[in-house]
Amino acid sequence: MEIVCVGGGPAGLYFAICAKIRDPQHRIRVFERKPEGVTFGWGFGFWDDVLTSLYANDPVTARQIQAASGLWDGIEVQISDKPTAYLGGYGLSMGRLRLLEILVARARQLGVELHFEREVTDLAEFADADLVVASDGINSRLREADQVRFGTTTDTGRNYYLWLGTDKPFGPFQYIFERTEAGWIWLHCYYLDEQRSTCLVEAPPETWHGLGLDQLSPEECLTKLAGIFRRHLDGHRLISQEDQVSTVTGLHGKHVRNARWYRDNIALIGDAAHTTHFSIGSGTRLAIGDAVALAEAVDAHGDDVSAALRAYDSSRRPELDHVQEQALDSMRFLEKVPELLDAPGMDPVQFAFAIARRLGNRGARWRYYLHLATQIQLLRAARGKLTAARRMRAERRRAKNEGSAAQGSARQMEDAL
Ligand SMILES: Cc1cc2nc3c(=O)[nH]c(=O)nc-3n(C[C@H](O)[C@H](O)[C@H](O)COP(=O)(O)OP(=O)(O)OC[C@H]3O[C@@H](n4cnc5c(N)ncnc54)[C@H](O)[C@@H]3O)c2cc1C
Repeated sequence: MEIVCVGGGPAGLYFAICAKIRDPQHRIRVFERKPEGVTFGWGFGFWDDVLTSLYANDPVTARQIQAASGLWDGIEVQISDKPTAYLGGYGLSMGRLRLLEILVARARQLGVELHFEREVTDLAEFADADLVVASDGINSRLREADQVRFGTTTDTGRNYYLWLGTDKPFGPFQYIFERTEAGWIWLHCYYLDEQRSTCLVEAPPETWHGLGLDQLSPEECLTKLAGIFRRHLDGHRLISQEDQVSTVTGLHGKHVRNARWYRDNIALIGDAAHTTHFSIGSGTRLAIGDAVALAEAVDAHGDDVSAALRAYDSSRRPELDHVQEQALDSMRFLEKVPELLDAPGMDPVQFAFAIARRLGNRGARWRYYLHLATQIQLLRAARGKLTAARRMRAERRRAKNEGSAAQGSARQMEDAL
């Protein structure tokens, strides 16, 4: 089969790998507009269900991704100088650039043809392709060219964000809230590599414009933000990607849905098909899941591309409804953060619990008592040991190639968030 992937992000590359493993006879070409080794963004977080799925599909990639990822154990919520509140759970994270390096090398090894610095502007040049995979990301040109048939709807978040790094290595995942003269602003920080952390800055427009962040040069903006969070950064810097120093521009969360994930011989996958707010750390995980689902559907239906795309759409798309709802809940919760932080008698422990529950109310009472217990150091350590034991069990299951990725995912995401 002649397959063309437009976009060489995690979705396009992992689909190419999965499809080529299933049928080495496919000719698969991936077209990526950026040069090799260049990407946007810092680290991405995931849970070890992703490893389970990666091991099930391609242990070679899985081993490298596991080796390149770091563990964050527990979550800390810091509100200015108030006592820290704690949440349980754990997760993994790694640099996006490293992930892409691993996927590119593996795709190449399998015989996928990779074309960098090739922006696709017209599908006419691929008229003879049996299947076109639109893996061209959140602003997918292929999707936008036919929004009506895909049934695209978009919600835009109110808050601004910046995806930055810092040369401070954080251990646990951190939510850090600071009050400024213009209002609240906060960080989401997690492991990037041994020397650095990913650092997402988020604030409502009142704070963003009030601080003049939109008026500053990139260097001034980073210095100003590092100053606001200095007590948490211990003198470390906030950093922007070298090639993107000139693009330190606040962005809004964008929530894209499609009522249909294919038309003719074109399949939408990854962010082109759906986006989830960064605060639930799921976009890459879902892109990988789409890639597997589409490769399986293509494999199951042989040369019948229409049947494969129908099967992919009807099985995979409904699975994401719930996650997309959670992502919207999370985005809207973060828009209400200033109101919650300014409420009379605001208590960091209660606020931290609200963060954990922001994906919808799964409010078994014992979870609240567990949360209260987690604030006590001894009990937190005991909970950490139980979590570590669960992690080891998952590791052993994976080694035996057992367990259900989907079940593990839902449970672990709930526990960690
Ligand atoms: C701030 C932030 C934090 C995030 N944190 C996490 C996280 O912690 N965990 C997580 O799982 N996810 C996270 N995500 C989401 C994650 O980055 C995306 O969901 C993921 O990258 C989607 O992969 P993709 O391959 O679909 O799209 P992309 O990674 O966007 O890749 C699309 C590729 O297509 C290329 N392209 C576009 N148009 C064309 C064209 N016409 N021709 C050729 N090439 C083209 C682009 O250059 C790009 O390389 C985060 C996102 C943001 C914005």
